[in-house]
Amino acid sequence: MSTLRTVGPLVVVGAGPAGSLLALYLAKRGHQVEVYESRPDLRTHSFDGGRSINLALATRGIVALREAGIENEVAGITIRMIGRMVHSDGKPSLQRYGLQDHEVIHSVNRRDLNAILLDAAENTGRVRFHFEHRLREVDLDGGSLRFTVGEETIDRQFGLVMGADGANSLVRAATIAANDGVVSEQPLDHGYKELTIAAGDDGEFRLDPNALHIWPRGDFMLIALANPQKDFTATLFLPNEPGIAAAGGSFAELDSPVSIETFFNREFPTFAALVPNLVEQFITNPTGTLSTIRCRPWSHADRSVILGDAAHAIVPFHGQGMNAAMESAAELVRHLDKESQDLAGALAAFSAQRKPDADAIADMALDNYVEMRAGVVDPSYLLKRELALELQQRHPNRYAARYGMVMFSTIPYAEVAARAAAQAQILNTLTDGISSVDEVDFERAASLVSQLAPLPAAEFPAAPTAGDVS
Ligand SMILES: Cc1cc2nc3c(=O)[nH]c(=O)nc-3n(C[C@H](O)[C@H](O)[C@H](O)COP(=O)(O)OP(=O)(O)OC[C@H]3O[C@@H](n4cnc5c(N)ncnc54)[C@H](O)[C@@H]3O)c2cc1C
Repeated sequence: MSTLRTVGPLVVVGAGPAGSLLALYLAKRGHQVEVYESRPDLRTHSFDGGRSINLALATRGIVALREAGIENEVAGITIRMIGRMVHSDGKPSLQRYGLQDHEVIHSVNRRDLNAILLDAAENTGRVRFHFEHRLREVDLDGGSLRFTVGEETIDRQFGLVMGADGANSLVRAATIAANDGVVSEQPLDHGYKELTIAAGDDGEFRLDPNALHIWPRGDFMLIALANPQKDFTATLFLPNEPGIAAAGGSFAELDSPVSIETFFNREFPTFAALVPNLVEQFITNPTGTLSTIRCRPWSHADRSVILGDAAHAIVPFHGQGMNAAMESAAELVRHLDKESQDLAGALAAFSAQRKPDADAIADMALDNYVEMRAGVVDPSYLLKRELALELQQRHPNRYAARYGMVMFSTIPYAEVAARAAAQAQILNTLTDGISSVDEVDFERAASLVSQLAPLPAAEFPAAPTAGDVS
């Protein structure tokens, strides 16, 4: 049986969050790793037209970074977000994410986080990055990868190839083909566009930086997260085509300066007032597509394994894609450590354990779109949310809101989904026919909650990443 030490060259394809973190983990265990990445080195090249693109980092990602010893370095580039600032009618209102001080999420610049991961991996002296190498062909049984580098084509041998090459993964395609496997791509009929709210004339933030801003509009929405440079990256999520949503608009219809201006002035006037060059940005910036990818198997014998978006691309509405990708890297090395004498067995065990979790977060991420764009202003949702927080306060050992279990715990996603389903039934029962939490029968609530299994306290690490601009 082969092991990581005997299999031959260890190759990672893709130097995004999953690939660079995996390379770092392996290097820290003494392995030599070759990483191939199609793009130029982001530490010396600027992408995205110089725009700042940010992400929400939560407990699962932080724990994975902690395991690599770089949590504190990343903390230095994050901005704490304590809740959702909902911009509906009237004054914006803050819905806190949790009850505890550490129950917050963190805005982080995608490029800066990736740069920390690349540096940390490179500093081990055991990881070699090959930028501007685009994988073109994978021969799993022959142990060979074909890359293009500029005009040139080169072949490289591997012992184990680890595919962290994102949603359009070629390592996935080869792994599925070698096993007669299955891949399904479920495109979302909504797309997205990133826009920037620049800092004010005084150089300061134009909105509260310590919140995730949401302009929910039922069938679509706009969100904004702060950057340390005092600007905000906003993202409009909108149907791609007319007719998908009952009201509002679609990217296809926003095809002229007049239509763009009319749409924003009607739907997001407070946002439009903050972005003087809105039309120019809208026309210049690309429109992105979103989809959910599920596949099996994730590994082929002792030859290949996939992780991150390559194995489980999800829609971004729970802010978990990168967190899940980094958690998968940690989970994979845990299996490699545990089953160190049987590489093929370790890879298969990783897939078997992690796939149900990936499927669960994919579903919860799709659900959360409805919650964010419509639920946050729906009275019945708000009543249940208030009751959920009350139950969590009264029964902290048995009840935790779903959002908190996803964002502030490391409970496996499939278990979160199962617990959340049981809790949703309790909320439905307790709120039936009432309109205020004051009317809830808390004795009955206590009896229902007592039937839930105790929460695993160890899965709620108090994540001390404390980026705060204020
Ligand atoms: C609009 C939007 C908002 C998001 N917000 C959040 C958020 O708030 N929080 C969160 O956790 N997640 C978020 N995500 C999801 C997150 O971006 C992804 O889940 C995460 O980047 C996945 O990491 P990865 O390393 O698996 O893949 P990627 O980041 O896609 O990295 C893959 C790497 O492989 C390289 N590559 C691809 N093909 C090849 C090839 N043929 N040869 C060589 N190299 C190749 C790519 O250049 C890339 O560097 C968001 C996604 C979107 C679209």
